[in-house]
Amino acid sequence: QAKRQRKGSSHTFDPCLHQAISHRLRIEQALRQAIKDEELEVWYQPIVDAQTGQPLMVEALARWPRAEGYCPPTEFIPIAEEAGLIGELGMWIAGQAIASLPALRRQLPNLTLNINLSVLQLLQEDLVEVLSQQADDAALPREAIHMELTESLFANDHDKVKRQLERLVAAGFAIHLDDFGTGYSSLARLQEMPVTTLKMDRCFLARLEQGDERIVRAILSLGQTLQMAVIIEGVETQAQRQRLLELGGTLMQGYLFSPPLPLPRLQAWLAGKIMETSESKL
Ligand code: C2E
Ligand code: MG
Ligand code: MG
Ligand code: MG
Repeated sequence: QAKRQRKGSSHTFDPCLHQAISHRLRIEQALRQAIKDEELEVWYQPIVDAQTGQPLMVEALARWPRAEGYCPPTEFIPIAEEAGLIGELGMWIAGQAIASLPALRRQLPNLTLNINLSVLQLLQEDLVEVLSQQADDAALPREAIHMELTESLFANDHDKVKRQLERLVAAGFAIHLDDFGTGYSSLARLQEMPVTTLKMDRCFLARLEQGDERIVRAILSLGQTLQMAVIIEGVETQAQRQRLLELGGTLMQGYLFSPPLPLPRLQAWLAGKIMETSESKL
């Protein structure tokens, strides 16, 4: 039991800090249990060709249902990372998402899957083997599965990160750079990394709205120069879609097209899209 100590001592008992730590420990404990009990869920958000409306990819996003509602991943992913749970969590999400892809590809044969990887997972020695096994178990070509990594990649041990990325690519998994434009991008490193696609962070759309198109234009042209595709994240309005198309953006993801959906609802959404496209061809 903590004792109150002399004022000014570095060991002064801080009830507020104590509460924060025990709250944090409770969340960590609950998350550990939820992973073990397979209570996490995978939701899927489509990425579309905004010109035609055709869905091309889906991004798998982790969800944690709790008694009081869904705990946001921006809250529990960092906790999983700090508590050493991200490897297990990440592989479980990847396994679920990969196992669900064959059914989705029966609806739409060329659909591909994006999985978010924490940079910490790159340090996991058997990462490539586990992912490859999951793809093989689902009888999927590795090319159907893409890994999203954030720019914080560049803040880590460069050689080790680069080697692991190259192993992923050699196995057939393409690398997409998530939240692009917000982090540590050094253009020199970007060019050295085996990245096929930039996912432009949605914060730049707020600027677009304010009439400032410069960064959006710059990222689209950087993609062209480096021969990388650009996916625009967070598209919410027709006006944004229209302007982005005019600026040369085609791959888009956002609430305008669809929010992240649980698997059955994604399948219904895909079925609707397929109907629309075949009707428009009549
Ligand atoms: P992210 O990978 O950049 O995912 C995109 C986030 O933007 C998702 O938030 C998505 O729901 C949200 N979003 C999509 N369209 C719109 C839009 O039009 N407007 C707005 N305001 N938001 C939109 P979500 O699902 O809450 O995930 C947050 C972050 O948590 C993800 O950002 C990703 O970094 C992380 N995350 C989620 N699932 C996983 C996972 O399985 N593994 C890892 N390592 N990270 C994950
Ligand atoms: Mg992502
Ligand atoms: Mg993103
Ligand atoms: Mg983001």
